[in-house]
Amino acid sequence: MAEKEMKLIVDGKRLDGRKFDELREIKMEVNVLERTMGSAYVEWGNNKVLAGVHGPREFHPKFLRDPRKAILTCTYNMAAFSVDDRKRPGPDRRSVEISKVISDALSSVAVLEKYPNTGIDVFVEVLQADAGTRCVSIVAASLALANSGVPMKDLVSACASGKIDGEIVLDLMKEEDNYGECDLPVAISPRRGDILLLQMDGNLTREEYTKAYNLAVEGAKKVYGMQKKTLLDSMVNLEEGE
Ligand code: UDP
Repeated sequence: MAEKEMKLIVDGKRLDGRKFDELREIKMEVNVLERTMGSAYVEWGNNKVLAGVHGPREFHPKFLRDPRKAILTCTYNMAAFSVDDRKRPGPDRRSVEISKVISDALSSVAVLEKYPNTGIDVFVEVLQADAGTRCVSIVAASLALANSGVPMKDLVSACASGKIDGEIVLDLMKEEDNYGECDLPVAISPRRGDILLLQMDGNLTREEYTKAYNLAVEGAKKVYGMQKKTLLDSMVNLEEGE
């Protein structure tokens, strides 16, 4: 979180006119890429994220294979044109961290035991970034994995909350992320009630944390509803097309 240099709440409203507990507009679609096993595209506010799944397929190198289950690896990448200043192509510390947290979250819900000795690769490409990309990426990656047909115990859903101008708000956009006091991304598997990601950048009191955490979970549950609807609609489309 940067030093505060910008007023983020004016006349009780956020800069984009949202209420404190309001999500940005979200659109999601699955089955958007032909050469993957599963894919998804999510627009969330000004974020645009594409996810594609390859595998399960034989894992290489052989000595790293797990005879009990598949190894799921996520690769998060920000396109050079996804941010205001050109992003230097290739992995950096941030993208390695985000790749790991997405891999861990998805590995908790995918039934990897069904595919021993294999690897499942989930690629996430951030085409346009506007804060909260790790949450958008988790949502897109989870949809793409479900679309690939890999059995899952639940979907993973995510949403961030945070603190701006002293107020706890849902789903920070870029200015709020840059100039706000705190960002709290959360990922859950709602049916199982598990927390699969909990990070915090900034400071909150205990009361503020409880409020922000509950707000993020409620946001993630709304997103979960959209994910389920997107997958169900795609199955209806598939049946109608047959
Ligand atoms: N960002 C950027 N350049 C970078 C990394 C991030 O402009 O190299 C922006 C981008 O809009 C991103 C936001 O900063 O969404 C917040 O980044 P953070 O590391 O907090 O992760 P995120 O909120 O995207 O999960």
